[in-house]
Amino acid sequence: MTPETPAPLTPVAEDWERALCVVAHPDDLEFGAAAAVARWTGQGKRVVYAMVTSGEAGIDALSPAECRPLREAEQVASARIVGVEEVEFLGLPDGVLEYGVPLRRAITEVVRRHRPEIVLTNNLRDTWGGANLNQADHIAVGRATLDAVRDAGNRWVFAEQLAGDLEPWGGVREVWAAGSPLAGQAADTTGTFDAGVASLEAHAAYIDGLGWEDWDAREFLESASRGAGQRLGTTFATAFEVFPMGWGA
Ligand SMILES: [Zn+2]
Repeated sequence: MTPETPAPLTPVAEDWERALCVVAHPDDLEFGAAAAVARWTGQGKRVVYAMVTSGEAGIDALSPAECRPLREAEQVASARIVGVEEVEFLGLPDGVLEYGVPLRRAITEVVRRHRPEIVLTNNLRDTWGGANLNQADHIAVGRATLDAVRDAGNRWVFAEQLAGDLEPWGGVREVWAAGSPLAGQAADTTGTFDAGVASLEAHAAYIDGLGWEDWDAREFLESASRGAGQRLGTTFATAFEVFPMGWGA
């Protein structure tokens, strides 16, 4: 293989019914994964979003109190475009998330309630590939999600959550991290690419707040999705780093 030929990607599993997406901020899923979510909801699968923060520190010109409801509303609208009806906001503080037991506890509770087979999160590596550094909240949430998926299956970890109707849930087969430079698998998003673009454009206040002149959601998603598609053998794709979670996997 020559250096100009990136390694091929293989298709992610699609023999599942329920997925839970756990990310740090509103908009994290829309920078690539949402088109894949649209594909899966189109197949009749159930996908739920859990936002660890409300992205309330994401717009320089707006105080967190002003920003929070705006970003939550944009996320709910964005999710609906790709067939996701349920969006939860866990209410942890944007920008200062710490990897640790409190974050694992919050994510474990969501995993136990929704009992997904697949959990999606964001890139948890130090960079996006190349020199662009990842953001601290993404790394903390990605790492805590990997741990929380295991915590969820252990009735003696965060046992206080199991006092009522909640049961342990050890049924997560894999965790998929979108945007990882170590991605090895992908979903074909050719048929749902436009829904993915519309779901990113739904974050209009956020994108305006970034002040990126002439930035275009479609162009941005096209370049990322075309590269992954070439490696999968499709026009467009979303790539994932896949972490097997079951024993003996
Ligand atoms: Zn983010």
